Amino acid sequence: MIYFDKVTKIYKDSTPALTEVSFSIEPKEFVSIVGHSGAGKTTLLKMLLAEETPTNGAVFFESVDVNNLRRGAVNKLRRRIGTVFQDYRLIPSKTAFENIAFAMEASGKSDAQIQSDVPQVLDLVGLSDKLWNFPHELSGGEKQRVAIARAIVNQPDVIIADEPTGNLDPANTQEIIYILKKINDMGTTVILTTHNKGVIDSLGKRVITLEKGKVIRDDKSGKYVL
Ligand code: ADP
Repeated sequence: MIYFDKVTKIYKDSTPALTEVSFSIEPKEFVSIVGHSGAGKTTLLKMLLAEETPTNGAVFFESVDVNNLRRGAVNKLRRRIGTVFQDYRLIPSKTAFENIAFAMEASGKSDAQIQSDVPQVLDLVGLSDKLWNFPHELSGGEKQRVAIARAIVNQPDVIIADEPTGNLDPANTQEIIYILKKINDMGTTVILTTHNKGVIDSLGKRVITLEKGKVIRDDKSGKYVL
């Protein structure tokens, strides 16, 4: 489904951020990508979203080279990949419901579908009672759950979660990982980056380890070994 073929990325005038990175990810996999700060994790995710172009090599999504897509096709690709970030990225002036509705409107969904789907996804992340709360009225863990609900509402094939628990305490971290696992069990591919050793060790899922832009390990049921 996703294939990185000897991807090298050299930002202007600097040492390579990624060097000949190759791996593939099958549909419905749950893959964690670990590595120290600067190892190349974010660069790798940006390439999958066609936000950065490889200097050499290619990134394929369902056999299509994502860096050869026209703008319209890039937007279509991005709609198939839901994203979740450490800093939540919710719109402060909109309620939980409105934040998610906004993502549905942007992809052309009808009012009827919005009215029916938004409560369902908020229920899935355990926030049925917070529909009308604004982000500043939610805890960090709750904000991240809204962000996850927003990421899945348009039923993407893949969820990219870039350090989703970076700002959360252990209890909330567990909750977010539990939700990501649940989404994965429902059939969505999940790609997670994290620094959290406990999360990786408890997941028991595949782990790709990056060091200075190179894949140094790719373990089926991995542990955090950095
Ligand atoms: P990680 O997400 O693992 O912390 P990054 O992919 O952000 O790693 O960064 C990998 C390397 O590429 C780092 O050395 C970083 O400084 C460099 N880098 C990232 N983005 C840019 C950019 N836009 N311009 C120049 N260098 C960059």
